[in-house]
Amino acid sequence: TNKNLYTLFEEHFPADKSSTAFEGPDVQTYSFEQIGTQSAQMANLLVNTGAKPGDRVAVQVGKSVEAVILYLACLRAGLVYLPLNTAYKAAEIDYFVGDASPAIVVCDPSSLKEISEISKKAGVLEVLTLDLNGHGSLSEGTAACSVKFETVSCAADDLAAILYTSGTTGRSKGAMLTHDNLASNARSLHKAWHFDQQDVLLHALPIFHVHGLFVALHCALLTGIKTIFLTKFDASTVLDYLPKSTVFMGVPTFYVRLLSEPNLSSGSCRNMRLFTAGSAPLLEETFNAFSQRTGHTILERYGMTEAGMITTNPYDGERKAGTVGFPLDNDVRITDDTGKPVPEGEIGILEIKGPNVFKGYWQMPEKTAAEFRSDGYFITGDMTRKGDDGYYRIVGRSKDLIISGGYNVYPKEIESFIDEMPGIEESAIVGRPHADFGEAVIAFVVPTASTTNLQATDVIAFIKEKLANFKVPKQVYVVDALPRNAMGKVQKNALRDRALEDM
Ligand code: ATP
Ligand code: MG
Repeated sequence: TNKNLYTLFEEHFPADKSSTAFEGPDVQTYSFEQIGTQSAQMANLLVNTGAKPGDRVAVQVGKSVEAVILYLACLRAGLVYLPLNTAYKAAEIDYFVGDASPAIVVCDPSSLKEISEISKKAGVLEVLTLDLNGHGSLSEGTAACSVKFETVSCAADDLAAILYTSGTTGRSKGAMLTHDNLASNARSLHKAWHFDQQDVLLHALPIFHVHGLFVALHCALLTGIKTIFLTKFDASTVLDYLPKSTVFMGVPTFYVRLLSEPNLSSGSCRNMRLFTAGSAPLLEETFNAFSQRTGHTILERYGMTEAGMITTNPYDGERKAGTVGFPLDNDVRITDDTGKPVPEGEIGILEIKGPNVFKGYWQMPEKTAAEFRSDGYFITGDMTRKGDDGYYRIVGRSKDLIISGGYNVYPKEIESFIDEMPGIEESAIVGRPHADFGEAVIAFVVPTASTTNLQATDVIAFIKEKLANFKVPKQVYVVDALPRNAMGKVQKNALRDRALEDM
């Protein structure tokens, strides 16, 4: 039977196809009917270039509904959608296009010249353009194509997309995701988060990552509901649209910025039923402040490019700050370096197995083999602890683990502790090579806006009083902000480099 993800979505489009699928202040309104016809036309255009099922379509464009339609058109044509971060410059695009050898590249008109040169070298069949307003050769070509297109029949493990990881720990890797990977995760979330036809999704995330493209859009498409589509995150615009919405998904920094809007209140959230957070750890402070201000408890979940969503806090039942809840429909275990489960309650590396887990890294068979156990479990690299309460807690990445004087130091523990210190907004802990200890703990701290003259020695004194000596930073840097990427992830590599400069 046909496992094409688009077919699954289409089955859940509302009975009244004229109802709105996408609307927003900066976008043209689209009904489900228009989504159907335009994705058919666009699929025809893509296929007419000579691209065959399994071929890649690399896309670096700003956020627009037409870019979403392009994703759907790729699904329909059996082409592999490969979105690229809009921040990438020519040299980076050169790497990704060379790596992916796509049949088609879609870019913003402003980068057409550069991208055409890169594409020529890589043997790309056709370069098309799409600007922020949905204009360009892609749209022009689409309008001229037939509205009839029969969605290609797919097997469950045919590739639907290649998504590059965020590159937090090193060079981004292309995760190969199948139609069934995406469908199974979409179904899990739809059920776990109680989506229904009354919902309206407020969408402010970028769409070149799992969070905005799959987690958010798939929930909406699998329910056949309206998405209020914001082309970027702007706290005051989000506030304007919250009263018309029922679900909002954000990275932690979105919530921090919403909280700095004086108008955020329980009134502005009166029609909301769900706020979710993920992609990076949500600070307990943010969780608490949001609940005090709005009466809503943010539901934190955890996932990654390679597997979509892995755990979630409960919809019904207590949502606990600092935890990522319980496993979704995948098997999980917490293990040591050799893959042996650690005793219940201890910290180990999370390993997972399930229909959501990807097929491997694009053109990296060795890397892929190294990240899977012989019994099929994927090694997430996230250090995890399951509490007595059964809730899972992500305590950091195994790559960020610091070994100082033979002791394991989990950055998250020290970070959470420092964050409690009056006058401190947030912090990040990294390791730096040390002649005696192997590694030394180094802290970066950001003072709150109202704090002046925060001293490194005060921070050290505060920690010394309560934590073991091997956890006390050897050096504390007071900085204005932590370096973050588009998804709000702290760039620990940059901090390690910064700490190294002072050696
Ligand atoms: P790379 O793999 O290239 O180094 P990355 O792992 O940051 O980059 P993503 O796949 O976008 O790329 O991010 C997944 C990671 O984000 C997870 O492995 C985890 O470390 C982190 N993460 C996601 N959600 C949460 C959360 N709720 N709490 C803590 N960490 C989270
Ligand atoms: Mg990763």
